[in-house]
Amino acid sequence: MRDESLPYNDYGVTMRRRFGGRVQKLSIDAAMSCPNRDGRVARGGCTFCLNEAFSPAYCRESSSIAEQMARGIEFHANRGRTAESYIVYFQAGTNTNAPVDELERLWREALADPRVSGMIVGTRPDCISSEILDLLADLSTCKYVAVEYGIESTYDTTLEHVNRGHGFLDAERAVACTRGRGLDVGAHFILGLPYESREQIIAQMERINALGLTSIKFHQLQIYRSTPMAREWAEYPERFALRGYTAEDYVDLMVDIVRRLDPSVAIERFASQAPRNLLEGSMLGGIKLDRLRAMIVARMRELGAVQGDMATK
Ligand code: SF4
Repeated sequence: MRDESLPYNDYGVTMRRRFGGRVQKLSIDAAMSCPNRDGRVARGGCTFCLNEAFSPAYCRESSSIAEQMARGIEFHANRGRTAESYIVYFQAGTNTNAPVDELERLWREALADPRVSGMIVGTRPDCISSEILDLLADLSTCKYVAVEYGIESTYDTTLEHVNRGHGFLDAERAVACTRGRGLDVGAHFILGLPYESREQIIAQMERINALGLTSIKFHQLQIYRSTPMAREWAEYPERFALRGYTAEDYVDLMVDIVRRLDPSVAIERFASQAPRNLLEGSMLGGIKLDRLRAMIVARMRELGAVQGDMATK
């Protein structure tokens, strides 16, 4: 439910309500390979992917879960981010790409810490099974458990072009099965992928609403050095409709998106921020995420807009 002081349904507010205080996510790198790289689905990975861009510095895949959690708590405390409890976030790579007994060992280790209220498992829509969902549902009887799927686009032509290795139907099935186990389901989408126009980006909101997500993250396309996408960015600039977008342009796009998003879906991110040394190109220049969020809120208030007031679902 939306906090009436904000024109959108904010994920942080939702989580504070749920847990009765501030919860801090602790990112974990469980050193799982990606089926889109290890040959199970394909080799080469998504054309935009640079895995090191997804993990905070305190994650070292060679450290144990407990060590990474301890470093994560210290990292956030040093930045004044204390919390009532923690959510372990299996973030980097594809965190269901292992035998189920290995997953159970990792997840039980994370959830055993009394400071931990729950976990979020990030994965691909084509890397989930009934067995894994049963395990997650079982763990959710003790602590909070959610699954976050990288869906990126609802257009199969886009997914194929970026070598994603799955189609939108996989996402629809995975979300439905996960919801069917009573688990929260998040998803992320990348805005500005090749060949997607502004109109197409907005038009996909109807299909996103139909998924029945609990939460959503939007990321502007970021071009990481040495990726196939970086080569495409250099050779075919005309394919990127949002290239050259200013922060104001992006705010207008995001307002159009939020107004079409089902109001029950909590928004976790409007954009992302990667280390500059990894980037070849990006929209939005160096604008800080807090500033961008404030601009979106200000623009929505100016328009008298709220999340979902133009949704068609
Ligand atoms: S973005 Fe995710 S699915 Fe794609 S190659 Fe990277 S880790 Fe694998």
